[in-house]
Amino acid sequence: QAADRTSRPRLTVIGTGYLGATHAVCMAELGFEVLAVDVDQSKIERLSAGEIPFFEPDLADLLRANLATGRLRFTTSFEEIAAFGDVHFVCVGTPQQAGGNGADLSHLNAAIGRLAPLLTRPCLVVGKSTVPAGTAAGIAQTLARLAPANHTNGAAAGTNGAAAGSNGAAAALGGVQLAWNPEFLREGFAVADTLRPDRLVFGVASPAAEGALRAAFAPVIAQGVPVIVTDYATAELVKTAANSFLATKISFINAMAEVCEAVDADVLTLAEALSHDVRIGGNFLRPGVGFGGGCLPKDIRAFQARADELGVGVALRFLGEIDKINNRRRDRVVELLAAALDGTLAHRRLLVLGAAFKPNSDDVRDSPALAVADLLARTGAQVTVVDPVATHNARRALPTVAYSDRVEDSVVTGADAVVLLTEWRQFAELDPARLGPLMRRRVVIDARHALDGDRWRQAGWVYLAPGRPTGV
Ligand code: NAD
Repeated sequence: QAADRTSRPRLTVIGTGYLGATHAVCMAELGFEVLAVDVDQSKIERLSAGEIPFFEPDLADLLRANLATGRLRFTTSFEEIAAFGDVHFVCVGTPQQAGGNGADLSHLNAAIGRLAPLLTRPCLVVGKSTVPAGTAAGIAQTLARLAPANHTNGAAAGTNGAAAGSNGAAAALGGVQLAWNPEFLREGFAVADTLRPDRLVFGVASPAAEGALRAAFAPVIAQGVPVIVTDYATAELVKTAANSFLATKISFINAMAEVCEAVDADVLTLAEALSHDVRIGGNFLRPGVGFGGGCLPKDIRAFQARADELGVGVALRFLGEIDKINNRRRDRVVELLAAALDGTLAHRRLLVLGAAFKPNSDDVRDSPALAVADLLARTGAQVTVVDPVATHNARRALPTVAYSDRVEDSVVTGADAVVLLTEWRQFAELDPARLGPLMRRRVVIDARHALDGDRWRQAGWVYLAPGRPTGV
């Protein structure tokens, strides 16, 4: 046990949302002792009771298994995590500022402000949240100022810490240090992405900090996962650059969809043909209703805002265009539908399939599906939104429409059109021949290219998909 203690740091996780809860559970699964904290008491109560407060495949089983081992615990006490942890992972939200495009760092600053004065022995604070370049350098200064362990003799603090059972890698830090370790997990694949990420990026300011991070990720590194060790600013930029690239790829193919519509060409065939070029590749080249969620939209906006502050805004001006292309796709769905329903949507009964920003998630933050549902409701249409897991969140975000968890006959009956906006598997499996007779009019807009158009047409539906000729 003592030897294990020296080689295996004790981990804490600060903020137990999509990222933090997943990270805490997966690190316990990898064999670490983990204590996670949140300011939201109800979240901590639910997690302690074995319940994930959001939808993420496979996570609930792993949570319960690791609670049972005693390796994973949750608390609302920062005193407790400060006393427990050798490595503290900061996973709080960094949403878009209420009145602007920049990142709101108030949660991050609050978490560091609470933790720092409690850190009396050597440890590593690791930022995982997505932040504007330059944030980590500021936090390192805050820790240097506020953490008591940095104001005692470093060697003595290390020795005392070791005597108190401190972890070897943490004791070597000599005080409290900061690292930045951006996170790349995808909602819907969060468990697999955390247990075996594509790469690890360590932004560090000392070899001791790198050593402590390597100890905290030892089971992941042992699988052969590449580790990129760099400075804070590069580590911060890797995350925002990756999200900007992904957003650009999606908006690129959606821009092609706009052009396809003008010449009656087929964007799906175009995308497939492009994807065979290995320099381009097919991932994230799916045309549809664009990107959304709690990351891509706010991250590309915050990136532009930060570039403006740094005097290099001109380099990222294209991201504004990426955002606009993305938002135009939402309007396009409304236009297509209005055209299919004789130019008017007022009083039409519309069935919207999907609320989550993507399948296998209940996240409705900046969801294209809900944004379109909102636009439709504003035209005076009667909108019912169906989503298997996201209606609870969606009701709070958009209370002006009706909701159902399933495509019940009662919500289909008398509808004028069906609009597919989130490509849940169960929607692709719907039988158009069975639904058709329940509808007032058989119109379907397949905004994610998830349905078999031929099958819907054969069942008597007007099938329309953005970026595709009407006959395809
Ligand atoms: P989230 O809103 O789901 O979770 C944030 C959590 O932090 C909440 O539970 C909140 O109560 C808690 N919190 C807020 N202030 C706190 C404080 N002072 N102390 C302790 N806890 C506090 O957000 P998320 O989606 O998990 O994102 C967290 C960060 O990770 C963001 O920076 C995001 O950009 C980044 N990220 C998210 C994902 C993703 O797929 N969700 C992927 C990669 C990176």
